[in-house]
Amino acid sequence: MAEQTEFEARRDRLAAKFSEHRIDAVLVTALPNVRYLSGFTGSNGVLLLTRERAVLFTDPRYAAQAPGESDCQIKVAKRHLLKEACASIKRLRLRAIGYERNRISLQSFEQMKEYGETLKLKPLDGVVEALRTVKSEGEIASIRASVQLNSAALAEALTQFKSSMTEVELAAEIDYRMRRLGAEGTAFETIVASGEHAAMPHARPSGQAIAANQLLLIDMGASVAGYASDMTRTFAVGKLDGRKRQMYKAVLQSQMAVIAAIKPGITCAKLDLEARSTLAEFGMDKLFVHSTGHGLGLEIHEQPRIGKKEKVKLEAGMVITIEPGVYEEGFAGVRIEDTVLVTASGSEILTPTKKDLLVL
Ligand code: ZN
Ligand code: ZN
Repeated sequence: MAEQTEFEARRDRLAAKFSEHRIDAVLVTALPNVRYLSGFTGSNGVLLLTRERAVLFTDPRYAAQAPGESDCQIKVAKRHLLKEACASIKRLRLRAIGYERNRISLQSFEQMKEYGETLKLKPLDGVVEALRTVKSEGEIASIRASVQLNSAALAEALTQFKSSMTEVELAAEIDYRMRRLGAEGTAFETIVASGEHAAMPHARPSGQAIAANQLLLIDMGASVAGYASDMTRTFAVGKLDGRKRQMYKAVLQSQMAVIAAIKPGITCAKLDLEARSTLAEFGMDKLFVHSTGHGLGLEIHEQPRIGKKEKVKLEAGMVITIEPGVYEEGFAGVRIEDTVLVTASGSEILTPTKKDLLVL
């Protein structure tokens, strides 16, 4: 018997949940989930998974690519993929079909109802996403490569830093370095935010010159072999006043306290509380306006979310970001973010870039 592929093992883990959800099959429509379960990296694909078979529907553009990437049965559909998939479901006499309610467009859902009018459609929210939280050795290796490349790109870009540079110019330098080092691209739009722009957690780089005697926040991630990395560093450009230094100190302590608390079994809510209580010691907890982190992998934001109300417990093999920040409107912002692997005994910080306040 042929050895089981990693994709087959993942599909088996999903199929093992069919009886619990009372379904005969599942139609996977979210592309990262299709990729996770089949290996297919194209931009148009639907995966039909029954207990006995896995069929990948795609269009003629991927007729050559799909069989090379995927161990599934491939059907190149000339018409709408969901229409083909529903026709197959009927031929196979399947009735109760799980679908990804949280990741399907209303249009696709209506088409599914139209093509599969006799089917019993059952919502499966986040079931594949939950399987994806614990990474395999191969996935961890890809994330490691992504994180290493991301840090190397930042180091190279910073050698080009000049005080007259605009935020957009530095962001472009970062993106260029990532590509030169072998990334497929950025995992998300690079953030370079200087001075009061850094007070906006998701600032867009502007044409404004990077200001002197201010904080400079850079949030960046690469995509390597499909896997994301995510890192934020905040730098001092010139001399900082006491308040800005204090903000940096508070965030760094908070971030390190959270990382020290990471271990299998701890809830995400507990970690989030750790970040907030450390910031509270500096009177800065009210300035922390987002959650403490998130899982990452094939997507930049995955489960688990490290937030106030998240009861999910960490498990060895999860890869998460830890990224507390403080933001004072019209003044400055600091965020420090690492990508971290949960291990059997605690955690391993994957991001190699230093966290002492660096003066540019
Ligand atoms: Zn992040
Ligand atoms: Zn980030």
